[in-house]
Amino acid sequence: MAVFLQGCPHNCPGCHNPQTHDPNGGYSVTFGEILEEIKRNPLLDGVTFTGGEPFLQAGKLTALATSIKSLGLSIMAYTGYTWEELLESPERSALLPCLDTLADGRFDITKKSLELAFTGSTNQRLIDVRKSLESGQVALDPMDFRVSSMALNGSGW
Ligand code: SF4
Repeated sequence: MAVFLQGCPHNCPGCHNPQTHDPNGGYSVTFGEILEEIKRNPLLDGVTFTGGEPFLQAGKLTALATSIKSLGLSIMAYTGYTWEELLESPERSALLPCLDTLADGRFDITKKSLELAFTGSTNQRLIDVRKSLESGQVALDPMDFRVSSMALNGSGW
């Protein structure tokens, strides 16, 4: 299940989701409504935070992510911030321990690649969050592979 967070300050040229940039766009849902939607699907094994820029609402997302983890689900998040930029902010970095995987960095149209399975440009990284926090340096997720074509099915990511 994907949760698309509204608002993004990065303005990457070639962005696929420009409708998510306006922080006053979208609509409001409660923490409880999102959790109910998640619990309604017993086949769900993971939740993805995307957008938009999920870390604009990092404080609220940390509370939601903690509840999602207590259900035994994995969490992946996309962000236009780099890992290093997230660590500079106490509010944004507080969300990291709740995540399993992070796709970081702004979309760079000059580095766009259709061979990437989870990101759009080669500067973006798929990061194993737990390993990175433990080691103090960025550890890439082994799922950070390149493909020529694939079909994705599943209830999680
Ligand atoms: S960070 Fe993502 S949503 Fe924001 S402008 Fe860049 S590509 Fe678009």
